[in-house]
Parts: sequence; structure tokens; C-alpha cells
Amino acid sequence: MTTVVAAYAAPAAKAPLERTTIERRAVGEFDVLIDIKFAGICHSDIHQARDGWRPGTFPMVPGHEIAGVVTEVGAGVTRFAVGDRVGVGCMVDSCRECENCKAGLEQYCSNGPTWTYNDTGKDGQPTHGGYAQKIVVDENYVVRIPDGLSLDVAAPLLCAGITTYSPLRHWNAGPGKKVAVVGLGGLGHVGVKIAHALGAEVTVLSQSLRKKDDGLKLGADHYHATSDPKTFEELAGTFDLILNTVSAPLDFAAYLSLLRTDGSMVNVGLPEEPVQIVLQSLSGNRRSLSSSGIGGIAETQEMLDFCAEHGIGAEIELISAEEINEAYERVLSSDVRYRFVIDTATI
Ligand code: NAP
Ligand code: ZN
Ligand code: ZN
Repeated sequence: MTTVVAAYAAPAAKAPLERTTIERRAVGEFDVLIDIKFAGICHSDIHQARDGWRPGTFPMVPGHEIAGVVTEVGAGVTRFAVGDRVGVGCMVDSCRECENCKAGLEQYCSNGPTWTYNDTGKDGQPTHGGYAQKIVVDENYVVRIPDGLSLDVAAPLLCAGITTYSPLRHWNAGPGKKVAVVGLGGLGHVGVKIAHALGAEVTVLSQSLRKKDDGLKLGADHYHATSDPKTFEELAGTFDLILNTVSAPLDFAAYLSLLRTDGSMVNVGLPEEPVQIVLQSLSGNRRSLSSSGIGGIAETQEMLDFCAEHGIGAEIELISAEEINEAYERVLSSDVRYRFVIDTATI
């Protein structure tokens, strides 16, 4: 039997989100029904609800930072039981057969993963995300939230956590490495905590110094304002790795000049416009420019276990569902400290 649940949806691109109801599919053999407790607001929700990346499917229920409790399991479910504390991130399915799926890189599934919302499920129905009271997900795309993490501060880890953990690990952030995090927002602040816990020397590059005290408390060793041209002179040739979390295009030549020989700038921020770079800013010191998308399911579990072990949760501002539209405006004006999380009981 399908379940009707309350949700918040954008009825059309750029329209304010409003309360509505959606239907969740019947709990299948390998599905779990999750009572959503908290849902983070990622900047990607805003890009998509406003058709910033591509035309979306509406009505759209955003939300891919989901934390909740299992309330029902299908007959074939082996990994979860009723009462388990669980999370769901950006994807809810993939082909499971391609080279990438078999390697635990489901986010790069050759046949395209099924995104948590703004996509079509294997049942042919539109997928809907976490700004809702319940969700039904195949157990293979659900992760366990360790006991040491409260569900509200764990929710943002399902996207912001894995999107920063995966490239930090892949590009070997750790002792002896100088890592810069550009943008102290949702992704950036979690990235600082994780890079610090991995043992790297961490620098925040923010537009201004107004969040400097916070940045240092989060684990940064250094903090600089990118609005100050001296920053780029002083830090030239410094970093092994730059993790760029900014949602708008930057002056890439300026940021690349901050890398050492063989350094990498990894862009997890995904602007709506194409970006331009001059290739000489790479060739001079064999620098690399790259990007990375979330992380696989096993790596997401690894990230949650790592965060629990190191006492890492997101810094959150808990809001009620009717504050979502205002929260979107505040994220757009970089006025977030450091992730808005919806208390889904208020839907
Ligand atoms: P966010 O909370 O808005 O943080 C972005 C931060 O970037 C802001 O807080 C601000 O920090 C800085 N910033 C914003 N506009 C800027 C500008 N014009 N110039 C310079 N700095 C600026 O957003 P988020 O949720 O962390 O997401 C960031 C980006 O990552 C989005 O594009 C999102 O879609 C993308 N994303 C990608 C993935 C992936 O898998 N690759 C996953 C999740 C999200 P300061 O005030 O400190 O400068
Ligand atoms: Zn996200
Ligand atoms: Zn696949």
C-alpha cells in the first residue's frame, strides 16, 4: 500500500516552496520505510528548485540530507531493523552492474544513478526528497547513523559530509599537507572539520574575515579574506590541495596560483554558469584542476563512522518548514552558520 505523506514542494521553478502531500511507494521486498526526523538544506536544493542547472521536474520536493528512523522493513531486508537510526543522501538507486557500481562508485554509475529527487525512479515515478515526513528507499542505498551522532547534526553529513570527505581522502589530505578550503558555508565548514581531523594544516579562504573566529574554532589553522589582494600575494605557491566549495564561478587563475608544483584544485561547488580558465595557470607548475561528486554508499558509511569517532557533526540552525523560503534567501546571501536543518515534525 502506498503512503500519503506531508511534504514541502516547489510547485514550479523559482516559485516559493509550500506545504503539500505526496505518495510514497509501497514498501517492497528490499525497501525500508524511514520516518524522516531532520532534513538539511543544501545549496544544490536551491540550484535545482530554481532551474539553475537544468530544467527540473515539478512539483519538486528537494532534500538529500536525510536523517531518520526505520519504521518498517520489507521481507527481504537484512541490513536494517525497525528502530534503526539511518540516513539517505543524494542517490536512492543505481544500476548495480556497471564497473563503477561494482567498485563502490555508485555516484558515477555508467547508467546514471537515481537521484533522491528531481529524477525518475525505476518504477517510472518522479523521486521526491527529504522535505517530507517519510521516504521509502532500497536498503542498499541507506546508511547507518552511529549512536554517537545526533540525528540533527548528522543530517548534513549525508551530502556536505561525504562531498568533502571523499575528495579530501582521494587527494590525500593528511599530516604534512597544506589544504585550503574556499567558502565557509555548508560544505566548507564540514570540510574544515574533516580536513583537520585527517591531520592536514587547514586554511580557510573566505570572502571576508567576519567568520574568522568560527573558522578557527572549527579547526582551521589559518584564515584569510579573498577580498584582500594581499592574500593572493602572501599565499602564492602554498597549497597541496584547494577544495573549492563556492557556488559561483571564481577567478581560477588567481586560486591556481596558490598551488605548489603538482598541487590540485578540486571544485565541488557547481556554479550555474560555465567557467573560464587560462591553461597556462596549470602548465606552469603541473597543477591539476578537477571536480568530484558526493561519494559511494560504502564511503558514505565510512565517513559517518569517521565523523562519529572524531565527534564531527554539522553546525546547524534548526528551522521549521515554514522558514524554508527565508532560509533559501539567507543561503544565497552567504548568511548561513552553517547549515539550515528542517525539523520535519513541523511539516
Ligand atoms: P553554501 O552553504 O551557500 O556555501 C557556499 C559558500 O561559498 C558561501 O557560504 C560563501 O562562503 C562562499 N561564496 C558564495 N558566493 C560566493 C561568491 N560569489 N564568491 C566567493 N565566495 C562565495 O553552499 P553549499 O551547500 O556548501 O554548496 C556549495 C556548492 O557546492 C553549491 O554549488 C552546491 O550545489 C555544490 N555541491 C556540490 C556537490 C558535489 O557533489 N560536487 C555536493 C553538494 C553541493 P564565504 O562567506 O566564507 O565566502
Ligand atoms: Zn547537497
Ligand atoms: Zn551502475
